[in-house]
Amino acid sequence: MRVSTDRATQSDGRMFTVVVESLGVGRQRQAERRITVPFSQLQGLMGTIARQGGRITAVLSSDGQGGTAEAKPETEPTATEASAPAPAAAPAPTPAHHVSHADVPVNTYKPKDPFIGTVVENYSLVGEGAIGRVNHITFDLSGGDPQLQYVEGQSIGIIPDGTDAKGKPHKLRLYSIASTRHGDNMAGNTVSLCVRQLQYEKDGETINGVCSTFLCDIEPGAQVKITGPVGKEMLLPADEDANIIMLATGTGIAPMRTYLRRMFEPAERETNGWHFRGKAWLFMGAPLTPNLLYDADFEHYQREFPDNFRYTKAISREQQNAKGGRMYIQDRVLECADEIFAMIENPKTHVYMCGLKGMEPGIDEAMAAAAAAKGLDWSELRPQLKKAERWHVETY
Ligand code: NAP
Repeated sequence: MRVSTDRATQSDGRMFTVVVESLGVGRQRQAERRITVPFSQLQGLMGTIARQGGRITAVLSSDGQGGTAEAKPETEPTATEASAPAPAAAPAPTPAHHVSHADVPVNTYKPKDPFIGTVVENYSLVGEGAIGRVNHITFDLSGGDPQLQYVEGQSIGIIPDGTDAKGKPHKLRLYSIASTRHGDNMAGNTVSLCVRQLQYEKDGETINGVCSTFLCDIEPGAQVKITGPVGKEMLLPADEDANIIMLATGTGIAPMRTYLRRMFEPAERETNGWHFRGKAWLFMGAPLTPNLLYDADFEHYQREFPDNFRYTKAISREQQNAKGGRMYIQDRVLECADEIFAMIENPKTHVYMCGLKGMEPGIDEAMAAAAAAKGLDWSELRPQLKKAERWHVETY
């Protein structure tokens, strides 16, 4: 759909309301929705709606004085017209720009009175031959009062159905959020998680984690008790020129996926208004190639933004470190220690670590050696970085 621009070009400041049917999932899909955007985002919004199978029934333009008039669509929406970055398919739940530290939402829903979300989709993130199960699970958050809002880097709690061995309701488990505040569908009303099914052997028996199994097995349409959001440790800086070094093992990739979508996913970037210009460098650790999570997306970002994004993998059971052992991300960090340390010397650089606690000593050792080569003491520098909110760690 192309909106005639002769009137609109004189009216870039005006807002347009698109009336759409059959957009979203589940109950949302049946409802008529009205989405208001500035003119600059109108064409992109139409592309997003077309891609999501929505049907536009009207485009109303505000004259800036409260009145509305119908803008005349010339053609039906096509996917090619949507090639320009698309905005949210619904008003964002939070302001487009940065949310200040103090305003980041926490504990909107508590365990005694959780939000009941509905599963939208649940699919495997690992390829053929991978070790174990890791799934991407999305929940619909619409209808909450207050609405459950969150920002990149936070976590939510899940309370699995059923009771424990003592007959008491299960306790909540925290999971790092894997979607941006706009959600994967850009409609601002979903949250996604990246969950590995916990499995371990005890007395010759395989034990499955209660909550992770509940989540990996869950079907679309199921209702789930959700708490939170929580966490302010892993928030991104507001600075569009910041440099972001990310160190993740396994499902610790969840917050990194939110950052990278915020930086490089066209629709997300257009919507959030945060036009990242710095350098992002992801170190990702996984046991096997099919266990690399969201790998195709990250490869794509690297191709599209070669000056801004670098992606380094440590595939522990396929690659060897310099000592002939399993290649872990701290070994990759050691290989690049001088480069990383030079980046850290720049006050615009932030480091984010998420995943296994076991990676921390090796990363400290690599940084200590790089610092020592410059006559600096890492044991003094690291607390300074932490104090400056440039060293962010969430490891288990
Ligand atoms: P995974 O798929 O098993 O991959 C973990 C990778 O890290 C494997 O390549 C593994 O190598 C490697 N690894 C093992 N020990 C290591 C060590 N000491 N240092 C560096 N790398 C090491 O991962 P996962 O099962 O998803 O586990 C991720 C961990 O992150 C879990 O413990 C989870 O609880 C935690 N996590 C934390 C957060 C958070 O804090 N917010 C969020 C998500 C996940 P090998 O197996 O080949 O030895």
